[in-house]
Amino acid sequence: MRIWDAVIVGAGIIGLSLAIELRKTGVSVLIVEKGEPGREASWAAGGMLADFGLEIPSSLQALATASARLYPEFVHELEDESGLKIDLRPEGTLLILNEDPDHGLQESHPLPTSLETLEPALQTPAHPALFLNEQSVDPRHLTAAAIAAARHRGADFSSGDPVLAIEIIDGKAAGVRTNRTRFASAVVVNCAGAWAGQIGYDARVGTDASPVQAEHTSAAFFAVPTRPVKGQMLCVAMPEKNLVRHVVRTPNVYLIPRSDGRLLIGATQEEAGFDKQTVPQTLQKLRQAALDLVPKLADARILEAWAGLRPGTPDKLPILGATPTPGYYAATGHFRDGILLAPITAKSMASLISGGECLHDLSAFTAARFHLLAG
Ligand SMILES: Cc1cc2nc3c(=O)[nH]c(=O)nc-3n(C[C@H](O)[C@H](O)[C@H](O)COP(=O)(O)OP(=O)(O)OC[C@H]3O[C@@H](n4cnc5c(N)ncnc54)[C@H](O)[C@@H]3O)c2cc1C
Repeated sequence: MRIWDAVIVGAGIIGLSLAIELRKTGVSVLIVEKGEPGREASWAAGGMLADFGLEIPSSLQALATASARLYPEFVHELEDESGLKIDLRPEGTLLILNEDPDHGLQESHPLPTSLETLEPALQTPAHPALFLNEQSVDPRHLTAAAIAAARHRGADFSSGDPVLAIEIIDGKAAGVRTNRTRFASAVVVNCAGAWAGQIGYDARVGTDASPVQAEHTSAAFFAVPTRPVKGQMLCVAMPEKNLVRHVVRTPNVYLIPRSDGRLLIGATQEEAGFDKQTVPQTLQKLRQAALDLVPKLADARILEAWAGLRPGTPDKLPILGATPTPGYYAATGHFRDGILLAPITAKSMASLISGGECLHDLSAFTAARFHLLAG
């Protein structure tokens, strides 16, 4: 039986970028994906790289900003290794709040020129806009490039077969059991996004096939506390290619332009279990909110609508690092920011797993902050 240095569960942007980073250190990696790689939250995302302090938890700020800074290099590397183009746009974001921003914020985030010049099609908002020096990316291009780059770097894939359980032998991670087979590795990383909490464990002692006493292992196994948070969005073809050039974000809706003339309108945040159906009335509300901002979008043809499942956690922070089972790690729960946080997650987790110096303080994101739960 082949043994990998690391098995990663889940081929979303988090699992893929971690696989690439681990391959750089010479580690052999297998990514086990229940469906098709890169077709869940990482495919459904808008792709804003939003690290503005008012909009993210304060304990995530340093990691978010560090990750945003890594993006140009991250994209360059993926483009280079995959031969695919990724639409990374540095145009910036216009943020419109529900109330007048305080003066300090307006001074620290001034518009570089008038709003009419920046976005002529934008209806003058009720409150002044802040300008954020943010980038955005097309997550589908990003994920496709990450799949190709991971393959190019020699990562192995198993697709269409879910991991059912983490195998634990003598109290340590020993691999995964899927629906069809087993894969052996002393390092297993749970990057299964919204589904991360569904993965249980099989515990054995030595080569003995008998399960260890349940209470012993259940006390130590970390059941990852993620839950799905549904997001519906739609995509239209702008009547003029550059009708909207910046990301425009308000408390009700956001607009994300792509360089090919598409515009994403998003997104809801719903507690709806694992349901990924779109609802016409909900999409209509999003579209109306977009028309209120940019009336010329009335002529925009709807190209597509979809829903995806963000990996939410009880405290809205990701879960990054070791679990109480030696060799079993979690890198998930990135909620609304997994596209943004992919490069820093990959670098930090790869150095943690390979025993190197961890460049970032991950203490706010440890599994240990949650109670130890039975698997
Ligand atoms: C509508 C919407 C808009 C968003 N907008 C943004 C944004 O603008 N900016 C941003 O940074 N983030 C955004 N996000 C969040 C972002 O999409 C996620 O945080 C990120 O994609 C999480 O990546 P992931 O790899 O952890 O999860 P996923 O991409 O969901 O990947 C997890 C993978 O694990 C696989 N898997 C699950 N269970 C198993 C199993 N048992 N065995 C094997 N494989 C398994 C799944 O099939 C999946 O492929 C948005 C999300 C949504 C839904």
